[in-house]
Amino acid sequence: MTFSILASAAQGAAATPAWAMLAYLVSGVFFILALRGLSSPATSRAGNRYGMIGMVIAVATTLVTHWPMRLGDAANSYVGPDLETIGLIAAAIAIGAVIGLTIARKIAMTAMPELVAGFHSLVGLAAVVVGLAAWLDPASFGITDAAGQILTVSRVELGLGIAIGAITFSGSVIAFLKLSGRMSGNPILLPMRHVVNLGTLVAILGLIAAYAVSGAGGAGEGQMIIWITVLAFVIGFLLIIPIGGADMPVVVSMLNSYSGWAAAAMGFTLSNTAMIITGALVGSSGAILSYIMCRAMNRSFISVIAGGFGADEAAGSGEAREARPYKQGSAADAAFMLEQAEKVIIIPGYGMAVAQAQHALREMCDMLEEKGVEVKFAIHPVAGRMPGHMNVLLAEASVDYDKVFELEDINSEFAQADVAFIIGANDVVNPAAKTDKSSPIYGMPVFDVDKAKQVFFIKRSMGGVGYAGVDNDVFYMDQTMMLLSDAKKMVEEIVKGLD
Ligand code: NDP
Repeated sequence: MTFSILASAAQGAAATPAWAMLAYLVSGVFFILALRGLSSPATSRAGNRYGMIGMVIAVATTLVTHWPMRLGDAANSYVGPDLETIGLIAAAIAIGAVIGLTIARKIAMTAMPELVAGFHSLVGLAAVVVGLAAWLDPASFGITDAAGQILTVSRVELGLGIAIGAITFSGSVIAFLKLSGRMSGNPILLPMRHVVNLGTLVAILGLIAAYAVSGAGGAGEGQMIIWITVLAFVIGFLLIIPIGGADMPVVVSMLNSYSGWAAAAMGFTLSNTAMIITGALVGSSGAILSYIMCRAMNRSFISVIAGGFGADEAAGSGEAREARPYKQGSAADAAFMLEQAEKVIIIPGYGMAVAQAQHALREMCDMLEEKGVEVKFAIHPVAGRMPGHMNVLLAEASVDYDKVFELEDINSEFAQADVAFIIGANDVVNPAAKTDKSSPIYGMPVFDVDKAKQVFFIKRSMGGVGYAGVDNDVFYMDQTMMLLSDAKKMVEEIVKGLD
């Protein structure tokens, strides 16, 4: 029955009416407006709305132009709507909508990356299923020549769609398992992995080329398609298992890009312009984001893809760390010193998200400003667990965008700051990234908090580590005062102290 739905979607694809082409174009414009809106917290709500409008137009246009019909015995005689297929489509949309709505309502912001990885896996699987359906029943998809053979160009699209979809699926499943802690985040390094990976990729491309030029049909072609599918599932798995914790943000955005290209390839197979546009937008924006994140972490894209980064995490989260002396303070101490300061730079991180401390933090910021203290927020590109994580939380707490600065715009100001106020951040302020070549975060640009006169460091205990699982010299600096508590509780107490 799936085939009948897909086939009905494909029927008439060759003759997409002009109004539908225009509607697809309009939906494409909405998607571009959505991306533009999502590039700033100030316009992100509008961006989301544009995306929703674009999607409604695209889905409605596809449904109307491919309305499932029952045909009579005489050629093209319309008997009535194909209620069974329409019922199945409605059921699929309803089930998907309920699942999507439930997940979106329940999901914690901190679990967003694994959710995104989970969703990408579904896009990949959909591409594989559509590709296999088109291969099994090409006539319904309108991709055959006069002799009933699949067109060469469609063979290339089909092969690529299945391969990229399968890689996206298995890669995203591994990313989901690693990000959700169901599988260790440590890199799994198989012997000769680069040779095996390269060999598998070459084999997949060779099989797609052989399938494209074969044209004979029959069992041989079936075997090629099955091998393309199986090898692509395997390479998706092999590509992601050697990638260590510190590189996971880039992996999520890279898989986002793959899922876009898989959708675009599927759009060609289904002759659906909206899908080609959307897929290309997702594919290219994901690729650009991966590039920007690699630059932010001072990592080359190739080395991330090759994997194994962070394999020698000597100070992995489970290992005992040498006990070193540190200074601990109270909320009252912090409130007193903050009041005396002229300039405070706040560095939020993952722990602020866990504690949901952003509202209390804004209150603290307002009170300090009333007392004449200059307050700025410093946001690292990979702070938290997803791109833009901190910006979203600060926007939610109505922190002024003018007070929020990117790493490169504020790093030089720490030298003039009286207090660097670190709340739930850790890796993004770890100087080992600058000095320790063996550190898994070596090379990632970090905030120069050591240049500030005073450093306040909020975290729950000295035992806890950041995402990369390494110790942090900032805890033990002379000018550092550790504020050991849940972030929200600590900031609320500081607010009381400022009263
Ligand atoms: P980290 O993960 O390095 O550190 C989090 C800190 O928060 C820890 O010190 C932890 O210590 C503390 N913490 C946790 N819960 C609380 C709480 N309730 N109250 C107070 N403190 C708390 O965070 P960063 O934001 O500095 O760094 C992000 C890391 O995540 C980077 O390594 C980055 O590569 C990675 N990453 C980023 C993604 C992205 O897209 N942004 C995606 C995936 C990974 P304690 O447990 O002692 O409280």
